[in-house]
Amino acid sequence: MKHSGTLLKMQTQLQEEVQYHLPVGEELVYLNELIGQTIKLTYENEIYCIKCGRKTVKSFNQGFCYPCFRDAPEAADWIIHPEKSQAHLGIEDRDLEYEKSVQLQPHVVYLSLTSGIKVGVTRHTQVPTRWIDQGASQAIKLAETPNRYLAGMIEVSLKQHLDDKTNWQQMLKNLQPNIDLIAERDKVAMLVNEAYNEYLLPKSEIVHMNFPVLHYPVKVKSIGFEKVPEYEGKLVGIKGQYLMFENGIVLNIRKYAGFVVSVEV
Ligand SMILES: [Zn+2]
Repeated sequence: MKHSGTLLKMQTQLQEEVQYHLPVGEELVYLNELIGQTIKLTYENEIYCIKCGRKTVKSFNQGFCYPCFRDAPEAADWIIHPEKSQAHLGIEDRDLEYEKSVQLQPHVVYLSLTSGIKVGVTRHTQVPTRWIDQGASQAIKLAETPNRYLAGMIEVSLKQHLDDKTNWQQMLKNLQPNIDLIAERDKVAMLVNEAYNEYLLPKSEIVHMNFPVLHYPVKVKSIGFEKVPEYEGKLVGIKGQYLMFENGIVLNIRKYAGFVVSVEV
């Protein structure tokens, strides 16, 4: 069967095994049942901006055309740097209404195990999606705040003690230290500036993510549609937003949001 259309990042559900659907145009391709099978991906040499829908020759920041990357509130700095959020002060960055709608809602500061242990921030509605997307095998909530700014400030205060980045090769090889996240949460809670103590969640529980992977690679080789417009191979697993094929070949689907691709299964 062949599906063609614009790709978006994979949709996920946390079940006993994480469930993945790949949006291809109007269709949702269920991927878990394709693991162990050969699939063929062909880039049709067109990209459409995920925000405005215009055709673009290049994708910026995982799916935007250049004008949207430059101007759209969805591509602003405070997305990556929550501590730069200013909607709680009524200060506009690119679009105050949008910024209020996203920033002024409950946010979670969490610890997750991806390659090592890392600290991160997300809207509470994005739990556990955010954890699945980053390929975390486990995660635990550290704090919940009423807005994005406060969560960002807690994260910043912990950056000198913890990573905030994932080493994606290590994540895909499933190499991570054996860490007790409950003990770690208790330890990290002591490091949070006491001005934020009221937001700590001392009784939160570990959430486990079990990814559909037949076998993890020893070495990882990333491919992309720019250099490899056509790829056919046996799908051996999915972790985070990566498809994993035989011989350690991996494809970061998120990077190709907006690309027109056909998927043959
Ligand atoms: Zn655009």
